[in-house]
Amino acid sequence: MSDASVNALLNRIGPSSQPALDGRTLDVRDPSTGEVLIRAPRSAEADVARAVEAARGAFRAWSATPAPVRGEVLFRAGARLTERKEEIANVMAREMGKRLEEARGDIQEAIDTAWYAGSEGRRLFGRTAPSELPQKMGFTLRRPIGVVGVITAWNFPVAVPSWKILPALVCGNTVVWKPSEEAPESGHLFAECLWEAGLPAGVLNVVHGTGDEAGAAIVAHPQVPVLTFTGSTAVGRRIYEVAGRNLKHVSLEMGGKNPVIVLPDADVELAVDGILWGAFGTAGQRCTATSRLIAVGAVADRVVARLVERAKALRVGDPLDADVDVGPIVSERQRARIHNYVEVARRGGATVLCGGELPTDPALARGSFYPPTVVDHVKPGSTLAMEEVFGPVLAVIRVADFDEAIRVANEVPYGLSSSVYTRDVNTAMRAVESIEAGITYVNAPTIGAEAHFPFGGVKATGNGHREGGWAPYEFFTELKTVYIDYSGALQRAQIDNRED
Ligand code: NAD
Repeated sequence: MSDASVNALLNRIGPSSQPALDGRTLDVRDPSTGEVLIRAPRSAEADVARAVEAARGAFRAWSATPAPVRGEVLFRAGARLTERKEEIANVMAREMGKRLEEARGDIQEAIDTAWYAGSEGRRLFGRTAPSELPQKMGFTLRRPIGVVGVITAWNFPVAVPSWKILPALVCGNTVVWKPSEEAPESGHLFAECLWEAGLPAGVLNVVHGTGDEAGAAIVAHPQVPVLTFTGSTAVGRRIYEVAGRNLKHVSLEMGGKNPVIVLPDADVELAVDGILWGAFGTAGQRCTATSRLIAVGAVADRVVARLVERAKALRVGDPLDADVDVGPIVSERQRARIHNYVEVARRGGATVLCGGELPTDPALARGSFYPPTVVDHVKPGSTLAMEEVFGPVLAVIRVADFDEAIRVANEVPYGLSSSVYTRDVNTAMRAVESIEAGITYVNAPTIGAEAHFPFGGVKATGNGHREGGWAPYEFFTELKTVYIDYSGALQRAQIDNRED
């Protein structure tokens, strides 16, 4: 049923804003109330084909624009994002349930990325090296590749796309982006800041829709040679398989099961502060969320007691209410999945120390809320110890010593973020060297990436690439090696100028 009072988002293809060609739409609901907030186009292959055509059409002029000039567009976009930060944060909090303060942080990360990526327009360094032959030189250039397909998750609807789109653009590529169907308006507003900053038509095209329709069409399109994806490992794996057959360049950022190891000499109050923020911030719906507390020896009792006391005091509710600590789960379906993980652990003999039940408070009845949950005595290797929950559920695993802690930390298929709390620098460095993860924090929570450092994970979290900082510019360009021989004669590498 279409309700005329609900606003409709449009795709942006080249200069034109348009609905899906077949007119289908998707409802986007407020997870705090269940109300329909906005309607987004449910695009299909034909919409994606048009967007790719627009991106291909814009590529020649954009790739020929000097990189510092491309960078200036990003600076203006950063300024626009700064001006519109509060407005976008409010939309984001409603749309996907992130608390306002955290939504502001999400946008700030995109602003920081705009400054970094904009300035990269004046670097995009190549290298020179001496030639083995006289009067000859060699150097490398970074060349844009073409149309980049961007597919993103809902939980960082502005920050994560910025990590991909801004570097891709400053490198001279054009983009077709499918934001998550759970947070399309936040994505639209981010893109709007780029268009308002003067990005030429067709350089960034946005096509809304579901993963198996619009997303799959981007992945399969033969004129999209580069794909960058953030989302679940199951979907990333499928994308990699399809894209691999067509030899596409693919960067995947996927799930996590991030541990905090607390050693007996740790500052317990500091560790509890970090675990609470890591496990229950954004209601645990971060790829870097603290999902496992690995407590070593006798410190476990003290940490767990304090954690439970503090977790019980967290207020669950409307993310726009400044007194609320934990907002909603993005959807009813995801909440059911989270609750099922807790039930499975309970049946397996683990102890639910707090949370673990659907809220009974009538004020929360319309939304998909779930309380901060601490599950103790989770067995290593059990489902809750191994699988990504993506919700406010902390599994406590008790271990005897440091070596067992590292073994347990590394036994999951994922390897995104990790943290260790200890006052001993030697122990901290042994943990840094031993934990299989793309990121390790010492005496800090598993969340808190900064825009100018590489971000990404090992094992089933990633496929060897990194976003953030200086890392993505390699991915979004091809190296061209140039040799200039100014000797005026044929010179043969490996053959001339040799005694043998
Ligand atoms: P998801 O995998 O369900 O969806 C991610 C995106 O992929 C969405 O835009 C979706 O529409 C699209 N998609 C789904 N099926 C597709 C297909 N067959 N072909 C092409 N596209 C398809 O993930 P989600 O629920 O949006 O996000 C949660 C997941 O994202 C978690 O696993 C989380 O850990 C992960 N995540 C990882 C990072 C990271 O940087 N490592 C950051 C944020 C989120």
